[in-house]
This record gives sequence, structure tokens and C-alpha cells, in this order.
Amino acid sequence: MYFDDDEAQKEVQALCSLSCAACAASPAGPKTFASLPLLQAHLRKAHSQSMCEICLLGRNVFISQHVLYSKTALERHMASGAADTGNALGEAGFKGHPLCSFCSTSFYGGGELFTHMQREHFTVRARASRSSHAASRAMYVRR
Ligand SMILES: [Zn+2]
Ligand SMILES: [Zn+2]
Ligand SMILES: [Zn+2]
Repeated sequence: MYFDDDEAQKEVQALCSLSCAACAASPAGPKTFASLPLLQAHLRKAHSQSMCEICLLGRNVFISQHVLYSKTALERHMASGAADTGNALGEAGFKGHPLCSFCSTSFYGGGELFTHMQREHFTVRARASRSSHAASRAMYVRR
């Protein structure tokens, strides 16, 4: 990869690294982590904040570009776009993650939910007597 200058290179490295955005403003500079779970644990412990797991899977952005939420803000984010006013998701007209009414799993958007319903529930529905929340959830996780 070619970089125009050191600044651009540093910027890209910061975007690609697992660094704590909440620590970036501190005098010590951003803290970086060896793995995503370590970063998530740090966010929870040091800042009482977390990233949305659904957005981590569904949004095509760098880890450091993900929005940090407090516990209550994350709940609001899942249910509606209310917590996202003023960030990238809010500007995109984000309305919360749709919930599957069969297994209560959240999905990134309507398209993902629709695919999930087709794959998991059109057949599960036909054998409804055998299906359970646990079973359909297990099928989803395994994929
Ligand atoms: Zn931090
Ligand atoms: Zn999310
Ligand atoms: Zn479902």
C-alpha cells in the first residue's frame, strides 16, 4: 500500500487497529488491543460503554468507526434510531434493528431479517409443534 505521507499512514493504521475510540482523546493516546473481545471488555470496564453486536456484524466499517453506547443508549439503539441522532447511523435514517417475532433475534436491517425468516422459519413453521425458541436460535448461531 502506498501512502502520501506519514499522517495518512497513521490514520489508516488507527482505523484498522483495535483501538479504543473513547481513550483517543486522552493524553496517553488511543489504547490498542490484540483482539475484539479484549477491546469490548475494556470499553465495558473502563468506560461503561459497548458497541452494538449487530452493527459489528452488519456494518461495513472499521472497528474504530463503530458507535459507542452506554447500556441504556444501546437499548434505545436496538429498539429505535433515537439514540443515534448525530452519528452516522442516525443520518442514514436508522430506525433500530428489526426483531424476529419467531425467535426474538435482532437483525441489522429488514433485508437480513427477511433472509432469516425465509431460511429459518418458513420450514420451522411447517413443523411448529417441534420448534422452540432455543432450537431456532441454535440454528441461527451455528450458521
Ligand atoms: Zn478506552
Ligand atoms: Zn446496532
Ligand atoms: Zn427468527
